[in-house]
Amino acid sequence: MSDVVSLALPHIAQLHAYTPGLQPTAPGWVKLNTNECPYPPSPRVVEALAREIGADGASLRLYPNPKSSPLRAAVARYHGHGLTEANVCVGNGSDDILNLLVRAFCTQDAAAGFTLPSYSLYPVLVGIQDGRSTVIEFDRSMRLPVAQIAASTARAFFLTSPNAPTGVAFSNAELEQVLTSYRGLFVVDEAYAPFATENAVPLLARYPHLVIVRTLSKAHALAGIRVGYALADAAVIDLLDRVRDSYNVNRLSQAAALAAIEDPVYYDGIIARVKATRDRAVADFAQRRGWFTYPSQSNFIFTEPKTARGESGPAVSKSAYDFLYAHHVLVRHFPSHALTAPFLRLSVGTDAEMAVLSETLDAWTKAPFPPAGSR
Ligand SMILES: *Cc1c(COP(=O)(O)O)cnc(C)c1O
Repeated sequence: MSDVVSLALPHIAQLHAYTPGLQPTAPGWVKLNTNECPYPPSPRVVEALAREIGADGASLRLYPNPKSSPLRAAVARYHGHGLTEANVCVGNGSDDILNLLVRAFCTQDAAAGFTLPSYSLYPVLVGIQDGRSTVIEFDRSMRLPVAQIAASTARAFFLTSPNAPTGVAFSNAELEQVLTSYRGLFVVDEAYAPFATENAVPLLARYPHLVIVRTLSKAHALAGIRVGYALADAAVIDLLDRVRDSYNVNRLSQAAALAAIEDPVYYDGIIARVKATRDRAVADFAQRRGWFTYPSQSNFIFTEPKTARGESGPAVSKSAYDFLYAHHVLVRHFPSHALTAPFLRLSVGTDAEMAVLSETLDAWTKAPFPPAGSR
């Protein structure tokens, strides 16, 4: 009998998989841990899904449109700025797009660059390819290290803007400073751009080495449908299409995403609600509680819990996380990095969910710290 693990490629046998946020199956949780939208998708999405399935599901016998062509055209029209179908590649979630970019551009002698903290999937994708990473660390200001990115020899650099898990956005002026000095492929992961004041789409026409990655999982309330896309120069899109699975986006997902993209009025409404709730929550955490909280241009807030005695730090944020968890409020804690460990990331939910979060944190502040069991 052979040891099957020893048959695997060594870098795969040693690989650490990406850790997704918990998805509880029991009801009753206030789920503020994976930045999903608290409101349902456009009603037109449900209609489009029903239409696609039809009375007997006959269309499901047939393969989907291999290039998601109608969706590419709709995405190009939606963004304007002279984009056409040739500037769009659709993926099975934006994670699929990020994976295509790493597979097409990064290997041992073509490093993938990214910042720390940022989206923790990037190093996993590089690991799968047995590639090499170049990591640029933020300091607590979370300002963009423009000069360091510009000086980087990475073949492709992945920047999350607005950043995760901080919610801090970078301006187009800062992105242009990178674009004019960095020679590699500059990938701006704009998963949260619908909640921000600015986005990089207007820069695409002038910078062929700029790639913008978007998802319908956050602002469009379609995390379960798995659709994301890249916007880029047609030559970059052509490369991604060579690497892509020929039927990477299923029929139902294409139909749902098309209906969502074609209903911007509905989404402007729910995005405005999320932003209003977010701005009230940031003010509450920063002013009423006096907790250091980064300005957020996303649908989550990154805040540093403080005890009644004014203490903060990794043990304090862990205590707040555990207390919330015990009261069935699920948030995210990132203990593995010094810049993130004292903080909690809280997705913006409905006003009712945010009220439960706030009351539970009030109760935590009144509870003894350190918690009885740990003294
Ligand atoms: C959520 C998220 C994604 C993943 O999006 P999917 O389309 O659901 O795969 C990508 N990048 C960042 C920064 C995210 O937060």
